[in-house]
Formats: sequence, structure tokens, C-alpha cells
Amino acid sequence: MKILKFGGTSVGSPERMKKLLDIIRPEEKQIVVLSAVSGTTNNLVEISQAYLDGDKKKAKELTKALHDKYVVFVEELFSTDAGKANGRDLIDYHFNLISSFANELFTPIEEKVILAQGELISTTLYHFYLTEIGVKSVLLPALDFMKIDEDNEPMVEHIGTHLQPLLEKNGDNTLFITQGYICRNSFGEIDNLRRGGSDYTASLLGAAIKADEVQIWTDIDGMHNNDPRIVKGTKPIAQLSFDEAAELAYFGAKILHPQSVFPAQKYKIPVRLLNTMEPHAAGTLITNESEKGQIKSIAAKDGITAIKIQSTRMLLAYGFLRRVFEVFERYKTPIDMITTSEVAVSLTIDETANLPDIIKELNDFGSVELDNDQTIICVVGDFGPEKHGFAARVLEAVKHIPLRMISYGGSNYNISLLVSTSDKTEALRSLHSRLF
Ligand code: ASP
Ligand code: MG
Repeated sequence: MKILKFGGTSVGSPERMKKLLDIIRPEEKQIVVLSAVSGTTNNLVEISQAYLDGDKKKAKELTKALHDKYVVFVEELFSTDAGKANGRDLIDYHFNLISSFANELFTPIEEKVILAQGELISTTLYHFYLTEIGVKSVLLPALDFMKIDEDNEPMVEHIGTHLQPLLEKNGDNTLFITQGYICRNSFGEIDNLRRGGSDYTASLLGAAIKADEVQIWTDIDGMHNNDPRIVKGTKPIAQLSFDEAAELAYFGAKILHPQSVFPAQKYKIPVRLLNTMEPHAAGTLITNESEKGQIKSIAAKDGITAIKIQSTRMLLAYGFLRRVFEVFERYKTPIDMITTSEVAVSLTIDETANLPDIIKELNDFGSVELDNDQTIICVVGDFGPEKHGFAARVLEAVKHIPLRMISYGGSNYNISLLVSTSDKTEALRSLHSRLF
């Protein structure tokens, strides 16, 4: 059994939806995970916000605008009168539900119900479409098996034990369709795996039923070895390890939801990143194997602020870093990169909402300096402790660029540099031409 996940743009228009059959082979055992039609989840967020603000008029207008889009969608997707009528009934049902919240107390619980409608609509429309053209499929309600616990952690075992019987009950069928992103929480309420969570669904399903492979279909031909918007001649990476992919996802290779690699990694399910527009391209295969001693990719993350705390009290002291980190913990601000000397520590953050308060508290430890508009550049590959020469090659490539921080040895797979954002383009290009 394979899991195939298609994102919002892959189902973004009736035309694109129909084209999925160029990729999906209905006779093969598979679960197809769909996102909401692109833009829909954003619209649902806006509608919910209007309800939360008590602005029912705005909620009504936004709901109508989205409904109108789906009326056209249905008209174009189906070719028979019966198909169109089914499609219209379906969207009327979901939009009546969304409108009904005008009469209720609106809390984050209701918000999550609204956010779930996008995937419920896209998958049912697709199932109806397949039925209309005579392709047999089974629609699996994700809300019957996708579950998170009290800590919002997905329950892989639960997913498996609840999904397996549904698959067995429909054992003569090969093509199963289900919703990405949505789930139930420990109270049994409708919830979700956070924005972009459909990849996570696919990976969790792969883990839960020990699938042969998870395929993530997007608009790019796999993960590239550098940012194609900035550097010419980037190439898709043929093979990556999960650890390398996790480093890249974190550093802004937006193609894969960072969390989504973990279940597949734990259960050793290969993940393939493939391009809907070029179905025959090889894409990127992610497995537990790492090609020894290879530099795989370069990625960058903008919008970074570096903070330096200098204090002679740090010298030979213990507990100093803990107290510094506690400040960030109190303000729920994640730290990305750290470097230390004997009398100073530098670290980076990308959430600056609480920065003024953080600085105020850090002033108690010593002198504090800030650098805004920084970029983390990370080079990913297999650089285990027994290897040599990689850091030298990286630094040689950027010897003409001022470096604010360097981090090496945090994992075996990453060398990170902090540069001024104005130097990013040059750094990415120079690294690319020298490392590949
Ligand atoms: N539809 C959801 C979102 O836009 C989930 C996804 O597309 O992965 O965030
Ligand atoms: Mg996505």
C-alpha cells in the first residue's frame, strides 16, 4: 500500500483535480490524501476571525464569496446533471454549516470545525468526480481514525488500529481517499495538525499502516540543493536522509512540513517528493540512508535577530546559560542557533514579539547587543565527527563575507552560518559554485 498526498494547488482547480488521474493508478492499492483547494483554508481562517471578532456581517460576506467560488468549481468539475446536483448539495451542506455559526457562541472549538471544511469538501468532491466518470473509490473519514492526544501529539497506534478495519472492510477496493490536516483531539472534538499539516497526515498514515512508501506531490520537482529563486542551476537532490531533510525543512525548505518527516523516519517508511507538473521526474527520495561524506544542500532562513550577552559572570560559572534560556522560555520564544565563548553567548531568534521584555531581563546578566536583519545559511550533508575538511570548504567559499556566527557539530548533518541578510545572495551563490 502506498500513500499519495496532493497539496492545495494540485487540487486547486477542476482541471487540476481531473489531471490527478494522470498520476493516480486506480488499480494500485493506495490511500490518496488531499489538502483543501488552495486558498480555502486561508479563507476559512478569515471567516473564523470575523466570527471571533463578532463581525457577523463580514463573516457572511466572506462565506458567500467562498461559496460562489465553489459553485463555479462544481459546475466545471462535473459534466452530468446528476453529478452537478450532487456537487451542489455537498457544498450547500458545508456552507450551511459554516453559516450556522452566526447563531452560536463562537470559540476556538467552533473555529476548528470551520477550518476542517476545506478538506472535507475537496475529498468528497473528488470522490464524487471519480464516481461520475466510473472510477471506483472509497472515501475514508479522517475524523474516524486521525487522533491527537492531550499534548496534541498524534497517536500512531490508534490511527493504525482504527484505520486497518476500514481498509479490510473495503478489501476489494484499491483506491482510498481521505482528508489531510484534520483529526480529533483527546476530547473527541474536531481539531487539526496545524497549517500545512496534510504532509503530516500522509506520513502518519504511512507509519500507522506500515506503508511501502509515502509520496508527497507538489509543484516542485523535489527538494533542491539551493534556493532556485536566488541561485541559477540548482538541482533536485536525488536522495536525502531523514536527518538531512529535517535540517533542511527547519531552515526554510518549505516543501515539506518540518514535523512530517518524523513518523516516517521512526517507522522507516521511504518518502518521495514528486512534482505533479512533471510526474516522470525522479524527485527526491528520503530514507534512513545517508550517502556518506556528501554535501547535499544549502538553505537559508531570513528574518533572524542575533542577541549577544556579554558577562564576566559567565566565566567558570555554572547555571548561567540556564538562567539566560529561562528568559526565552518565559516569553515562549524559540532559540535557533547558539555560539558561546568564555565570557559571552550569542543566540538567534526569529520571533521578536517579546524582544523588548526579553532584552530588559537579559540586561541583568551583562551587556546586551542586538543585530537585526540577519540570515542563517545552513549547509546540509553527512559531516560525521570522523570526517574532515567540510567546514574548511564551507568557510573558504565565504571568506569574502563577514560572518556573525558559525555553528558546527550540533548535529552530524549541518554547518550553519549567520550573515547579514544583505550578504545572503552572495553567500548562497558563492557556496553553490564552490560546493557543487
Ligand atoms: N489545508 C491546510 C492548510 O492550508 C493543510 C494543508 O494544506 O496541508 O494549511
Ligand atoms: Mg503544503
